[in-house]
Amino acid sequence: MTSFSDLGLSEPILRAISAENYSTPTPIQAQAVPHLIVGRDLLGVAQTGTGKTAAFALPILHRLSENRNRPQPQGARVLVLTPTRELAIQIGESFATYGRNLPLTRTVIFGGVGQNPQVQAMARGVDILVATPGRLLDLIGQGLVKLDRLEVFVLDEADRMLDMGFIHDVRRIIKVLPAKRHTLFFSATMPPEIAKLADNILSNPVRVEVTPVSSTAERIEQHVMFVEKADKRPLLGQVLKRPEIGRALVFTRTKHGANRVVEQLGQVAVRAEAIHGNKSQTARQRALENFRSGEIRVLVATDIAARGIDIDGITHVINYDLPNVPESYVHRIGRTARAGTSGIAISFCDAEERSFLKDIEKLIKIRIPVVDDHPWHSDGSVRQADPTDRPPQERRPQRHGRPPQGAQGQARPDQARQNHGQGHGQGHGQGQGRPAGQGQGRPSGQGQQARPAQGNPSRRRTGR
Ligand code: AMP
Repeated sequence: MTSFSDLGLSEPILRAISAENYSTPTPIQAQAVPHLIVGRDLLGVAQTGTGKTAAFALPILHRLSENRNRPQPQGARVLVLTPTRELAIQIGESFATYGRNLPLTRTVIFGGVGQNPQVQAMARGVDILVATPGRLLDLIGQGLVKLDRLEVFVLDEADRMLDMGFIHDVRRIIKVLPAKRHTLFFSATMPPEIAKLADNILSNPVRVEVTPVSSTAERIEQHVMFVEKADKRPLLGQVLKRPEIGRALVFTRTKHGANRVVEQLGQVAVRAEAIHGNKSQTARQRALENFRSGEIRVLVATDIAARGIDIDGITHVINYDLPNVPESYVHRIGRTARAGTSGIAISFCDAEERSFLKDIEKLIKIRIPVVDDHPWHSDGSVRQADPTDRPPQERRPQRHGRPPQGAQGQARPDQARQNHGQGHGQGHGQGQGRPAGQGQGRPSGQGQQARPAQGNPSRRRTGR
């Protein structure tokens, strides 16, 4: 196994790594660093959570410190372009951490805050500039940032740039960069437009691909709970009260939904905060800080705001709403199980979200096991998407109501019934799922059909 000292990094950098208690390089670090140290362009197919920030930051710091060119006024020697403010801040912090023993300057530029401090920070030029595209382009347009003497360009999360509509800004920024430069390109997925961009801007790159989307998902114990939309609220309250939930990140599809969930959790004495695009930068940072420090146990986020959240010890990711873009599911659940640890992802799925679940399972090639031992389990949401599964007259009427006393805690994922595997003589391990394509002819949810409702005490309701 490669060690950090095998990678050719200088002593001040090795000291910083050891202060972080990193014992061995992650696969992307082991594969990318030796090429980057000698100045090869890189195409990295990897997502956050793989250690990719250090994979580019370490060799960049190494090369900068070996060659002490001074940055030009308003210029930078290195530009890292990343889609969100949170990521920009985190990458800036990573450079500070790994470069703590080196006399290099750096700053971070992003929108949503006043530009003056950023302009001042750039006045004398910096070694390392981390930026989001919109604000950077603004400052370039005003003549306040100059990148014509850039040495290294890192494009981070290129596919996300495309998703978020930043790709034109990115292209415009690339146009002002010198043609002769060292270029690093990272993307979790390679849709055609991104592959073409990579092709245009990289010169004879080495390609490093780690943990493709599906295999990241395999490391995480995943469950789905079928529930009616209106019942998601009490279900979430119950799930979050479980003692094994150390730190939970809850995802909603909309900003409004995130606020509402925080409010509703407050009513059942679960303290939570939300981060999303409508919150000020200060409020987002505060919420992240409270979550990181353990002040709050639950953070509610939308997809875009959560991109790049790098907080250790997230034990659970809960999808209050399923995302309609299947890749987002993988990005979401990747917030847990960081850097090789394990994690649990629980997804609530209502009738309207059944097709999203199908798309997700197709992408990750895993049948997500169903947990039905909870008071709000809804056969309706299982059936509706697949009416051929059982004649309508056999469907149980859906009832709403509070769970009976003592029902709490019965919906533990470790009691998951592996419904997808049933009926095929194909039990599969806890959280492992079964690759899609095997036994796919059976409509989802058949497992529930076979069991009488009264067979499961947790599903008996007192009604209203
Ligand atoms: P990233 O993919 O860059 O977002 O990194 C994910 C997490 O892994 C961060 O919390 C890093 O601090 C951590 N990390 C990066 N490299 C290593 C390593 N070699 N050993 C342990 N943790 C690491």
